Amino acid sequence: MANESLRQQLALLYQLQERDSELLSIQQKLQTIPHQIEQLEAGVAKYEADIAAKSEELAEAEKVQRARNAEIEMNAVQREKYQTEQRTAASNQAYDALERQIEFLDEQDDAAEDAILLLMEESDRLKEELAKLDIEVNQEKEKTATETEQFRQELRALETEREEKLKQRKAFLPKIDKARRDEYHRWVKAQLASEAGIARVKNGFIALGKNGTCSTCRIAIQPQTLKEAQKYEKQVYCSSCKRLLYVEPATPDVPFP
Ligand SMILES: [Zn+2]
Repeated sequence: MANESLRQQLALLYQLQERDSELLSIQQKLQTIPHQIEQLEAGVAKYEADIAAKSEELAEAEKVQRARNAEIEMNAVQREKYQTEQRTAASNQAYDALERQIEFLDEQDDAAEDAILLLMEESDRLKEELAKLDIEVNQEKEKTATETEQFRQELRALETEREEKLKQRKAFLPKIDKARRDEYHRWVKAQLASEAGIARVKNGFIALGKNGTCSTCRIAIQPQTLKEAQKYEKQVYCSSCKRLLYVEPATPDVPFP
């Protein structure tokens, strides 16, 4: 081997990148889970808002119903008064005037009774809907509690996994030359500063060259570049995606990647 040390360094750098890619996936899940829990809770909150709105509608319908009933009761008292006056009416004219007042009360009562019937139907409908919502919100709450607990367990497991992987990474790091890993770290830091940073880091600093093709950009490596890279004498970069190349050795007995 012309330069086994550089080949090994590229292999180690590639392994570091794989570790970091896994760590970033864990990081992404850790960030997503709290949003998923929030969404579940928002589902319950929506039901509760629906229930509050319908309860208010029902209370209003019942209030109007009571008012219309009170109106009928007041009319009954008034009607009795007119009927008493009719018994002592001084003239037919006076009697007829009272009769018209009573008829007016009857009309009012008819209107109130019609309204009460409609209000009762509305109240029944609202009560039915509320009973249905009550069952649904309880199901939603149960589902949310179960799923939230699963998410929390997942969070704890991911945090443990992350700790473990970070520890392993720390132990692994000194195997790589300081200058090379510093370069890699500077590159990672620069990528993470941008919006799509995580995806870019996962896409890789170092690209595998397999079967003569760059595995990151999927473009064939120029034969001259490939030959150069297989010597492992200096760092060689993919001419299309500009990534550092770690190519498959020319001899098949060398482990790769
Ligand atoms: Zn490439």
